[in-house]
Amino acid sequence: MNFELSPTQEMARDFTREFARREIRPVAAAHDREASIPWEIMAKAKELGFSGHDLSLGESAREAGEEPEAARISVLGAEELAWGCAGITIAATATSFAAAPVRQLGSAVHRALFRECLSGLDGEGHVKVAANCLTEPGAGSDLSLISTTAVRDGRYYVLDGEKQFATNGSIASLYIVWATLDRGGGREAVRAFMVPRETPGVYPGRPLAKMGIRASDTAPVAFERCRVPDWHMLGARAQAYREAKGVLDRTRALVGAMAVGIARAALEYAVEYAKDRVQFSAPIASKQGIAFMLAEMATSIEAARALVWRAAWMADRGIPNAHAAAMAKMQAAAVAMQVTERAVQILGGYGYVQDHPVEKWMRDAKVMDIFEGTGQILRSVVAEGLTGIRCR
Ligand SMILES: Cc1cc2nc3c(=O)[nH]c(=O)nc-3n(C[C@H](O)[C@H](O)[C@H](O)COP(=O)(O)OP(=O)(O)OC[C@H]3O[C@@H](n4cnc5c(N)ncnc54)[C@H](O)[C@@H]3O)c2cc1C
Repeated sequence: MNFELSPTQEMARDFTREFARREIRPVAAAHDREASIPWEIMAKAKELGFSGHDLSLGESAREAGEEPEAARISVLGAEELAWGCAGITIAATATSFAAAPVRQLGSAVHRALFRECLSGLDGEGHVKVAANCLTEPGAGSDLSLISTTAVRDGRYYVLDGEKQFATNGSIASLYIVWATLDRGGGREAVRAFMVPRETPGVYPGRPLAKMGIRASDTAPVAFERCRVPDWHMLGARAQAYREAKGVLDRTRALVGAMAVGIARAALEYAVEYAKDRVQFSAPIASKQGIAFMLAEMATSIEAARALVWRAAWMADRGIPNAHAAAMAKMQAAAVAMQVTERAVQILGGYGYVQDHPVEKWMRDAKVMDIFEGTGQILRSVVAEGLTGIRCR
C-alpha cells in the first residue's frame, strides 16, 4: 500500500480540512449542546459533493481507466470532517450509508428514484436526506432476526415492522428498509426496499436523546401496511443480502476514519494544553507521566490510520477487505476512546467540564465502537477469518 497521497487525494484532504476548520468546528459545541440538526452544513456538503447524494462515486475514474481512489478519498475526508465534529459529519454524510445499497444492488431505475426522492428541498425548506434502516428492537448485531415483513400483494409489497436507531430516521425523505420475505428464511430472505417518506404507512418516530454525536438525528421508524411497488425492491437475486453486507466493508472503513479524526482532535488539544499548563514550576508536558501518554496517543492514532487506509486501498482495487475493514474500525474505535479519555485526564478537572471540547469528543467517540458493527462483532469477523470457525 502506498502512504503517499496523489495530487487529487491531497486536494480532497486539504479541502475538507479547511471546511472542517472554517464551517464545522465553530458551530460544533452549539449543535452538541442543543442537539440541533446542522441543516446549513448539510446543504453545503450536498452542494460540494461529499454528502453521499452522488451515486456515481468513483465511476468516472473507472470509466476513464484512472487509478481508482474513491474509497481513499472518502476516508481522508471523513477523518478531516470528524476532526471538526463527528456528529455534524454524520449529519452531513449519513445519506451515503443509504446510497451504498442502492449503488451496489440497484438498477438505473432505482438510481433515478433515489435522485428523484432527494432532489430539491423538503416541506420545511431543508436539504433532503435518506436513512438506511436495518436495526430493529429485536435485531441488532444479529440481522438474521429482522422481523419486518415484506409480503407480496400483486405488483406491490406490503411492509410491516418497526426499525430502531435509524440515522436521519425522523427527517429522511427516503428510507431504505430491510425486510424479510419469509420470517423462517434467515438472512437469505432479507431484501432492501426503497420507501419514499410520503408513502402511506410510514411513521417516523421522535429523535432519541443521545450521549454523543448529538447533531445527528437518530430515531425509530414504523412501517404499517406500507405498500410500495414491487420494483422498489433492491437486488432480487438470492444473494442480495450477502452482497449488501459487502457495503459494510466500505462504510466500516469510513467509521474508522471518523474515529481517527476524533482522536486526532483530542491529541492536538491535549498537546497544546500540556505545553501551556504549569504545575510544579514547569509545563505538565515536561512530566514523563504526561509526555508518555502523549507519545502513546500519537502512535496509536498513526497505527489506526494505517489500518483505515489499507482497508480503503483494498476497496479501491476490488480486493476483498472484510477482515481489513473490520480490523480498521475495531482498532480505530478503541483508539478514539482511549485517546479521548486520556485527553480528558491530561486536562484534569478542565477536561471534565464543557468549557473545553475534550469531554464532547469522549462522548462522540463511544458510538464508533457500537454502530456499523460493535467491537465484539468485528472481533468475531477477524477471528473467523483466522480460524475459519464461526464464533458469534
Ligand atoms: C447513534 C446510532 C446510530 C445508528 N444508526 C443506525 C442506522 O442508521 N441504521 C441502522 O440500521 N442501525 C443504526 N444503529 C444501530 C446499530 O447499528 C446497533 O446499535 C448495533 O448494530 C448494535 O445492535 P444493538 O444495539 O441491538 O446491540 P446488541 O446486538 O443487542 O448487542 C448488545 C451487546 O452484546 C454484544 N454482542 C452481541 N452479539 C454478540 C456476540 N455474538 N458475541 C459477543 N458479543 C455480542 C454487542 O457487541 C453489544 O456489546 C445506530 C446506533 C446508534 C447508537
